[in-house]
This record gives sequence, C-alpha cells and structure tokens, in this order.
Amino acid sequence: ARKSAGQTTMQMERTFIAIKPDGTNRGLIGEIIARFEKKGYKLVAMKAVKPSKELAETHYDALKEKPFFGPLVEFICSGLVIAMVWEGTGVVKTGRQMIGATNPLESAPGTIRGDLGIDVGRNVIHGSDAVETAEREIGIWFKPEELVDWDQTVKQWIYE
Ligand code: GDP
Ligand code: MG
Repeated sequence: ARKSAGQTTMQMERTFIAIKPDGTNRGLIGEIIARFEKKGYKLVAMKAVKPSKELAETHYDALKEKPFFGPLVEFICSGLVIAMVWEGTGVVKTGRQMIGATNPLESAPGTIRGDLGIDVGRNVIHGSDAVETAEREIGIWFKPEELVDWDQTVKQWIYE
C-alpha cells in the first residue's frame, strides 16, 4: 500500500533500464537519462559495462530460440552499455511507454525509440517488461550492494 510521500515505507517498484551500444556510441546517454530524471524517477544504480557474452545470453535467455538471438547478443556485447535501475510508482509500465514499441518503425514520436531510432536491431534502449522481469534483470546486472539507498528529498514535489 502506498503511503504519503513524507513516509519512508512508500511502496515503489523498480525497473532495469540499459542504454545499448548504439545509444552510447551515438552520444545519446545524456538525452536518455534526462528523460527518466525529468519525469521524477529516482536513480538507484548505474554503471558502465561492456557485457560478457554470458551476461548478454543470460539477460536475453527468453529469446534464445529466436533467429536474431545470435546477432542480438553480439550487438549487446559490442560496446558500452549503461546499466541502470530506476524507481518510482508504475515505473515498469510507464518506462516501457516512454521507451516505445520494440520496432522503432512503430514507436510513437515522443518516445525514446520513436525519436532516436529507425531499425529494430538498433533500438537504443532496453527496459524491463514486468515487475518480476525487472527483479530478475536487476539481479543479473547488479550486486545488492550496488543498489544505493538514498533519500530523493524532492519527492514531496513529485508525489502527493
Ligand atoms: P523489447 O522488450 O521491446 O526490447 O523487445 P523484445 O524483448 O521482444 O526483444 C529484445 C530485443 O531484441 C529488442 O529490443 C531488439 O533489440 C531485438 N529484437 C526483437 N525483435 C527483433 C527482430 O525481429 N529482429 C531483430 N534484428 N532484433 C529484434
Ligand atoms: Mg523485452
């Protein structure tokens, strides 16, 4: 149950967001982080990683039978990934809406993929598709001690 912003027990969900190597190479890191930051979400963890094949395969395990799995893993491992955890009410679903449809040809203008990408194999960003998926992905990419416990003091101006 959600309590008022002044209380510390407010129920919050977390999502795993990653800027893929196309996004980092194209200089879109700041642009993407700014969208989550300005929305009001709380940054809980962030790191720069060049993922191992094992990490990428584990992350995309549900897609291992897809024809694009091999190229996808190779792409994710090809350069810098910015891995992040963002927290807030409804952040998983709203984060996916901010990211836009998987194929940028179908992502609405105003979304990250709609504004910044063209091709499905270069769609700039990853976001968890459900709360349970987010928990799994956060566990793959981060150690528990890398999740920062801090007070977003501005929260009284974001939550009623
Ligand atoms: P997402 O949750 O919107 O990222 O989409 P999925 O979980 O279905 O797929 C994971 C990632 O695989 C996508 O973000 C794309 O980078 C890639 N992908 C999905 N479908 C295709 C496809 O049809 N072709 C290619 N080349 N890549 C795809
Ligand atoms: Mg997905």
